[in-house]
Amino acid sequence: MTTNILKIEGLKVAYGGIQAVKGVDLEVNKGELITLIGANGAGKTTILKAITGTLPDCRVEGHIEYAGQPIKGLHSFELVRKKLAMVPEGRGVFTRMSIRENLLMGAFTRDDQAAIDADIEKWFGVFPRLKERSAQMAGTLSGGEQQMLAMARALMSHPELLLLDEPSMGLSPIMVEKIFEVIRTVSAQGITVLLVEQNAKLALQAANRAYVMESGLVTMQGDAQQMLNDPKVKEAYLGES
Ligand code: ATP
Repeated sequence: MTTNILKIEGLKVAYGGIQAVKGVDLEVNKGELITLIGANGAGKTTILKAITGTLPDCRVEGHIEYAGQPIKGLHSFELVRKKLAMVPEGRGVFTRMSIRENLLMGAFTRDDQAAIDADIEKWFGVFPRLKERSAQMAGTLSGGEQQMLAMARALMSHPELLLLDEPSMGLSPIMVEKIFEVIRTVSAQGITVLLVEQNAKLALQAANRAYVMESGLVTMQGDAQQMLNDPKVKEAYLGES
């Protein structure tokens, strides 16, 4: 039996007169790596923000359930306590804090210092570049390193569900590969991942299932490997025909 960790029904979001999300149903089961792909402006980021309650003042309709509980209206720090963490687009690391301090901030919901230290070492194993630079100010890191730090910081809260918004955005091809390697590692550790990505090919290669969004609606959903071979997906999102 599969159990869903996240269930969205009939989600609609309007920014003033702009209906950005027009009635979306989406389900993520425990342990899955799900990707949400689609063109710029399709509404992907808006969905993540609706889940984490980080939308600006706008109309949100529909039902969002996490771990069997409605979560609409909860603040992001309350969600982190419930083990739902998000790495936003643009990363948002604390630039004037060291890498180690950023990671400690990620553990703000915890008070098990020995386990926190052990976790920092664990994630340094996955992100060796961060270990080498642990005393360095986060603002001095490259874009890719900041993305890694933002992911490691989110992981310090022990999430069961990790939301990633465009983690490969603006990064060099080598860094993009590294980020995807880390996403696979995180998923292999049993953490459920909902990944919003522009790089549809890499996202579909990594994911179990996928949702495709166009103009505020889900237009396709299914097995990610099958989607990689779907002629419509190939033409519209993979630059193949
Ligand atoms: P991208 O990859 O460009 O981030 P996306 O699929 O994540 O695209 P959203 O960022 O969710 O799309 O945007 C969906 C629609 O909502 C777009 O038309 C966008 O212009 C609009 N929108 C997003 N944020 C706001 C806002 N704060 N105020 C007004 N309109 C917004």
